[in-house]
Amino acid sequence: MAPRAGRGYICERMRLHVLGSGAGGGLPQWNCSCDNCTLVRAGDARVTARTQDSIAIGSKGSGQLLVNASPDILRHIERTERLWPRAPRDTPIAAIALTNGDLDHVIGLLSLRESQPLRILSTARVRAGLVERNAVLRTLARTPDQVTWTTLELGSEIALDDLGVAVTAVPVAGKLPVHLVGLLEPSPEDNVALRVRDLATGRVAVVATAVGALDGVERLLAGADAILFDGTFWSDDELVARGLGRARAQDMAHVPIGGAAGSLARLAAFAGPRRVYTHINNTNPMLRADSAERARVERAGWEIASDGMEIAL
Ligand SMILES: [Zn+2]
Ligand SMILES: [Zn+2]
Repeated sequence: MAPRAGRGYICERMRLHVLGSGAGGGLPQWNCSCDNCTLVRAGDARVTARTQDSIAIGSKGSGQLLVNASPDILRHIERTERLWPRAPRDTPIAAIALTNGDLDHVIGLLSLRESQPLRILSTARVRAGLVERNAVLRTLARTPDQVTWTTLELGSEIALDDLGVAVTAVPVAGKLPVHLVGLLEPSPEDNVALRVRDLATGRVAVVATAVGALDGVERLLAGADAILFDGTFWSDDELVARGLGRARAQDMAHVPIGGAAGSLARLAAFAGPRRVYTHINNTNPMLRADSAERARVERAGWEIASDGMEIAL
């Protein structure tokens, strides 16, 4: 079905705009001198700098849905014209959907505190983890109508008519944000992927940037026209092997890309839709243009997200 004309918000095809394609810390990460961070600082063309994860979804001239509020959100707004204000006090950001409560996905909310009305979509758990007993977040409650929270119930679609999209939160194996571990019991609402459906065309994008296990992921991806998938780590021991930490990818609820149990092998059947790895950690060897890992990913038909990449839905 072609996009309908004359409905205000449908000026062109829906687009996914990758604002930030890096995982928490970005590339280069301030306290890291791994191979990739070092190459970026040296200006080596084989590795490109990346800001922290966020995606804008919408059509040009319409309101935009942001998936996650990155610590780099102000930079994302200034380098993306469709996110600029159109009036003296205004933002085209019509809603922000949070996939979990990790700081690299929510801390940007604090940068949007200039008494601008905001609509935030999250599970009840993610909202509670953010606003309950958290004095800093009260900066988004300066007036009673500053933030409108919309609860994402797992599996139920919410239509955002003004944006021309509908959003469904699908539980995905994840973990509590580090700062809430020990305070709350884990819940399926801690981490979700989003299915975003274009109301005009019916086309579907899946945004799944934190996937802790692949069991049941086929249902999440079924019928998708574009998939933005967890590209955080290439291998489970990526940080350990480089002496950069003790946590394995699985400990951080990210399935690695490589290996027999990795997403590249396990998702080989999903050859139809546009498939893009994003939320890529700075240590991931596939970030280097001349790496064997990059060649393997591209041979399998996957793309590697970069900041500013646009995907027409
Ligand atoms: Zn993240
Ligand atoms: Zn690094």
